[in-house]
Amino acid sequence: MGVLSDLEPKSVWKYFEDICGMPHGSGNEKAVSDYCVAFAKEHGLEVYQDEAWNVVIVKEACAGYEDREPLILQGHLDMVCEKKPNCSIDFEKDGLKLQVTGDYVCAEGTTLGGDDGIAVAYTLAVLADDSIAHPRLEAVFTTREEVGMDGASALDVSILKGHTVLNMDSEEEGVLLAGCAGGCSVEISLPLGRRKKNGIHAVLTADGLLGGHSGAEIDKGRGNADRLLASVLSDLCRETDCELISIDGGQKDNAIPRECRAELLFPEDLSKEARQKAEEVCRASYEVMKKKYDATDAGFSVRLQFGNPKEAEVFSQDSFEHAMALLTSLPNGIICMSEDIDGLVQTSLNLGIVRTENTSLILRYSVRSSVSSEKEALVEQIRQSVYQEGGSMSVNGDYPAWEYRKDSPFRDDCVRIYQELFGTEPKVEAIHAGLECGILASKIADLDCISMGPQMHDIHTTEERLCISSVERMWRYILEIIKR
Ligand SMILES: [Zn+2]
Repeated sequence: MGVLSDLEPKSVWKYFEDICGMPHGSGNEKAVSDYCVAFAKEHGLEVYQDEAWNVVIVKEACAGYEDREPLILQGHLDMVCEKKPNCSIDFEKDGLKLQVTGDYVCAEGTTLGGDDGIAVAYTLAVLADDSIAHPRLEAVFTTREEVGMDGASALDVSILKGHTVLNMDSEEEGVLLAGCAGGCSVEISLPLGRRKKNGIHAVLTADGLLGGHSGAEIDKGRGNADRLLASVLSDLCRETDCELISIDGGQKDNAIPRECRAELLFPEDLSKEARQKAEEVCRASYEVMKKKYDATDAGFSVRLQFGNPKEAEVFSQDSFEHAMALLTSLPNGIICMSEDIDGLVQTSLNLGIVRTENTSLILRYSVRSSVSSEKEALVEQIRQSVYQEGGSMSVNGDYPAWEYRKDSPFRDDCVRIYQELFGTEPKVEAIHAGLECGILASKIADLDCISMGPQMHDIHTTEERLCISSVERMWRYILEIIKR
């Protein structure tokens, strides 16, 4: 008896529990991929598996539905693996320990992978049930979604006849997604001239910021530690005789940095007055920012700590000026908002990483836009500034946007069916983050797509939980969509 075997709809929860019993973190999807292939064979369905472990299963239309437009049902096989410090689960080989608490399913000490195991479970349950009236169904299960959507990128869509996609990788019941951002990561490298010097060592730190996801949380007005520290640094170097040894902040280009640290060198004969002046400049600079970020980043602080005399390699004057120009004058945050969808950030960028290496300063940005031409224009703008300052840059991990379609018959159907079933209108939104729908839209001509899913909370964390009654409601919804 499984932990979930009393829950309804039984078949959905059975497949979900099977999936949770196999390790399936990103890059480790072979077992769950093979499981889907075995499922298809057992049910006499056409199946394809590729080298990326993507799986496509085809179920031909039932009698009377042969002339209907095929429907693609899509989700990803991989999950984000996070666990609590005391949890002994080995994500390479162990399944999860499922738990039912009230109206929720969760996993003891780990992420649950409701994102996106529930999509796979729904789809297998649909394919297994011969009593459901359906057009030609094309189930598409992709891999490595959570680490760059490599599976979707590698997917050969020539097997697919459908142009209509029901993606099940969203986690808010009552919200239908109709667009997502594309993006890329920009790495800037500025060559550094250095010279050896003796002086008084000091460390300037900005920390206590909230940070967050560079897509979902770029509109929250939160401070970016790298930018804020650069701004204090700029004041400090203008008004005192300090020089820069290094500046480092942030771990990922797609996260708003929470702390940043710079090493400085002040003159050997630093007087008490000059030291006080430096502290005063920092304090004044901090006070201005503190006011601006009090509501979003209550814990924000800036500190200047003096150390001992030492010899260090400081930035040459030229390098310092180029570095500060890039750090303080490149755009950052929201560039523009959507005119089609209320409250949607259309184009943004985030300075996620600043790192000082021996002979170069590295800056990494995550750039996003739901309009491809705007993303490209922003990348070009950055390139111009970087060249002007004598740096070089590369663009990596480019993924396409799923642009909002003003005219979408499938979306209209999905809205109407939702209203008929539940008596309320679903919200139609777009997100400022990537979904595989963007990659599908770049491969399938005239793609008509929505993304939906049952209610989940705190995905990608050990607090992830999946709402049982919502899984049942969204099951009925999916069946109705398939039937029409
Ligand atoms: Zn997902």
